[in-house]
Amino acid sequence: MEPQQRSPLLEVKGNIELKRPLVKAPSRLPLPGSRLKRGPDQMEDALEPKKKRTRGLGTATKFASSHPRAPALTTVPQTQGQISAPKVPKKTGPRCSTAVATVLKNQKSGPAVPAQKPCTAAPPKLGVKKPSKRPAWDLKGQICDLNAELKCCREKTQTLDQENQQLRSQLQEAQQQATALGIERRTLEGELARVQAQAEQGQQELENLSTHVLELEERLGTQEGLVQELQKEQLGFQEERRRLATLLEEQERRLQASEAALSGSRAEVASLRQEAAAQAALLAERGERLHGLEMERRRLHNQLQELKGNIRVFCRVRPVLPGEPTPTPGFLLFPSGPGGPSDPPTHLSLFRSDERRGTLSGAPAPPTRHDFSFDRIFPPGSGQDEVFEEIAMLVQSALDGYPVCIFAYGQTGSGKTFTMEGGPGADPQEEGLIPRALRHLFSVAQELSSQGWTYSFVASYVEIYNETVRDLLATGTRKAQGGECEIRRAGPGSEELTVTNARYVPVSCEKEVEALLYLARQNRAVARTAQNERSSRSHSVFQLQISGEHAGRGLQCGAPLNLVDLAGSERLDPGLALGPEERERLRETQAINSSLSTLGLVIMALSNKESHVPYRNSKLTYLLQNSLGGSAKMLMFVNISPLEENVSESLNSLRFASKVNQCVIGTAQPNRK
Ligand code: ADP
Ligand code: MG
Repeated sequence: MEPQQRSPLLEVKGNIELKRPLVKAPSRLPLPGSRLKRGPDQMEDALEPKKKRTRGLGTATKFASSHPRAPALTTVPQTQGQISAPKVPKKTGPRCSTAVATVLKNQKSGPAVPAQKPCTAAPPKLGVKKPSKRPAWDLKGQICDLNAELKCCREKTQTLDQENQQLRSQLQEAQQQATALGIERRTLEGELARVQAQAEQGQQELENLSTHVLELEERLGTQEGLVQELQKEQLGFQEERRRLATLLEEQERRLQASEAALSGSRAEVASLRQEAAAQAALLAERGERLHGLEMERRRLHNQLQELKGNIRVFCRVRPVLPGEPTPTPGFLLFPSGPGGPSDPPTHLSLFRSDERRGTLSGAPAPPTRHDFSFDRIFPPGSGQDEVFEEIAMLVQSALDGYPVCIFAYGQTGSGKTFTMEGGPGADPQEEGLIPRALRHLFSVAQELSSQGWTYSFVASYVEIYNETVRDLLATGTRKAQGGECEIRRAGPGSEELTVTNARYVPVSCEKEVEALLYLARQNRAVARTAQNERSSRSHSVFQLQISGEHAGRGLQCGAPLNLVDLAGSERLDPGLALGPEERERLRETQAINSSLSTLGLVIMALSNKESHVPYRNSKLTYLLQNSLGGSAKMLMFVNISPLEENVSESLNSLRFASKVNQCVIGTAQPNRK
């Protein structure tokens, strides 16, 4: 069954390879060189000599001698038998041609019988001995010989006739055969042509198939290359697949581990959520408690401030500066409090020797001792941080909604500006109260933001010189115009005051405050006077508007913090000549004295709870009226020079401060809205 399965293409290919003949059937064509290839005419020609031989004995004899093969048909009885023996079949076809071929072959192989001369056989057959040459005279003998010869010839003629007869019939037969063979030949030629055509067609087909086979082989080669490539690719893919499978396994392992971890984490998250919820509840509760505590802290803080006094006076003695005469030892004394040296000093003793007073004996009178006591006394060595520490709590009251006013009072050169703004350099140790207070406020506000409080701060800085208000933060054209301002009520019926044309600058960090202080220093009037700069002859008021809000509880609080560097409190020296400059100085001094005494009077009036408080008597008290009332807290630094030459002014300052210190302003109320 295999051949049937093979494709025709492969069959053809196989045939080509094996060089099998395309036509398997036995060819009916005569073999090349076969006599049958000759046509009937040629066959006749072949037989022609036999015809000729039959025409005459001489010719026949001659022919026999020249063509020894042919005479075999005529001479040998055996030949006769051979010729007559084959019966020519009437039908034509391959068998007929085979018969003819056999006859012709036999004819060809005729020479197997030796050719004999016609007469050579006769004598033994007749039994006549050929006589030796008879003499001429033996006519009888000759006639006898001739008769014998004639008889022999006659027999021969008879034989030849017979033979001729046979040959004629043979010829006829052969002609018939030739005709048949001609027909067969034509048939075969037709067949040959057809077969040749077939062969050509086959050849063509073969060529086509070969071409096709070549194409197919080429394609096969390509396909095989492709297959090899694909196999390589497949190997690569298999390798990749194995790698990916390994990776997948690894990923699955990790996934399982992750899932396990995730489920663990979920459980953890659930427990953490529970914990967070519990914490949130706790936090809310604590927030509530914290708020309660904060409010309690504010209440207690205020109570403490009130206990300390709503008006407090601190005395600060500046150190002796390089180049200044060293005071007599014991000129200023700072006796310890009841708690001993560890107690912060609150007492000060000043010894004044009055040369005008003499003893009865004529010896100089002993110095008069002047004792003062204040809420706190800062001896010359006290640092800025130490001073601020004492007022930090007071400053914080402003955040709680209590107006705060801090003054620096004293003669020129006693250290007011140093206390308020700081030293002339950038030494952080010498930083004054203003930058320290603001830094403290920013920090506390930041802490309070965690409790829901939001604070904002707006700063302004003005100076009051000769009852004129000027903006120290003015810039550009405002600065060129002198920055003069007016104090007005914020609105009709409003208690709030505002300085028109003054800059109110929102601040939120130290850097901004530093920039403002620097600008103020630049803008400060620097007109020289006989004794000091004009700056010493003016009050500088740094105001910070504080606004706090607790959105969650709908609470608001706001209060101003005022840090005031007062003008020098020194009196005009009565000994000075009254020139035009001095007259100007006199006006300045009167203005200063007036405003300072108004400040004292206001404090006094507040302390005495008088119905009329003369705020309007000076620009300073008018500007500060909202920070000096019953709900306000006030602190006054009285700055003292350590020098003996300033003893008179120091005493004046101390006396003024003592008066203030005796004042008690009613219970402060926070400005709550
Ligand atoms: P005022 O403002 O009262 O006129 P200042 O603050 O200008 O006085 O002080 C006068 C001088 O004394 C300045 O040179 C200042 O640096 C110096 N000074 C004042 N107080 C102190 C102090 N506590 N420590 C060191 N130097 C001081
Ligand atoms: Mg000053």
